[in-house]
Amino acid sequence: TLLLQRELERRGRAEEQALAANRDLARLANTDGLTGLPNRRHFDEAFARAREWSQQTATPFCLVLLDADRFKRYNDTYGHLAGDEVLRAVARVLQRQVRSPLEVACRIGGEEFAVLLPGASGPEAVARAERIRHAVARLRIPHTGNESGIVTMSLGVAEAVAGETGGECFSAADAALYEAKRQGRNRVVAHPGGTTATQVA
Ligand code: GH3
Ligand code: MG
Ligand code: MG
Repeated sequence: TLLLQRELERRGRAEEQALAANRDLARLANTDGLTGLPNRRHFDEAFARAREWSQQTATPFCLVLLDADRFKRYNDTYGHLAGDEVLRAVARVLQRQVRSPLEVACRIGGEEFAVLLPGASGPEAVARAERIRHAVARLRIPHTGNESGIVTMSLGVAEAVAGETGGECFSAADAALYEAKRQGRNRVVAHPGGTTATQVA
């Protein structure tokens, strides 16, 4: 009986270790190696969940897409390693700016980030995006190749509209981001679609 008990305990421990290893793997698969933020894969899942939740509860949901301005020039001027440091600094700003476990900041591509804001209306999301934009500018990281002389971000905001697909919501935020770039960068633009979104220059 004693041997059997020991064997069962041993198996229990092995099982726990395997579960923990699986959890670590799952976390790694969803984490961006450079910044430690959730990665694109995590974003896709969290984005789908957040949209679903917003539809089920009839609460607003906004997506913010962020892109570092003139980042190619940053690398060209200061080197790729310095560029990596900037991306880490931006990630720290984003982490500080998300407020609840429901809000998620992700690195979705090279110098591109996304923030999910469940519960936020268009104007609320624009205000949050402005705070993020200011917080990055306040780092005052020199960037001679950028119009303002410091590292800045452009941001596009889209409020989810009933009946649209996730792809359409993403495209709306991306179009707003593109417009922010076009208007001169270092600004927030909201997609005009939806009923409450406001345009900010
Ligand atoms: P824009 O203001 O229009 O966004 O200009 P941009 O130069 O930021 O845009 P572009 O897409 O031309 O260049 C993106 C740059 O981001 C080029 C690429 O080398 C850099 N980049 C992407 N991922 C990383 C990364 O992990 N580390 C570093 N250091 N640079 C990166
Ligand atoms: Mg880009
Ligand atoms: Mg860029």
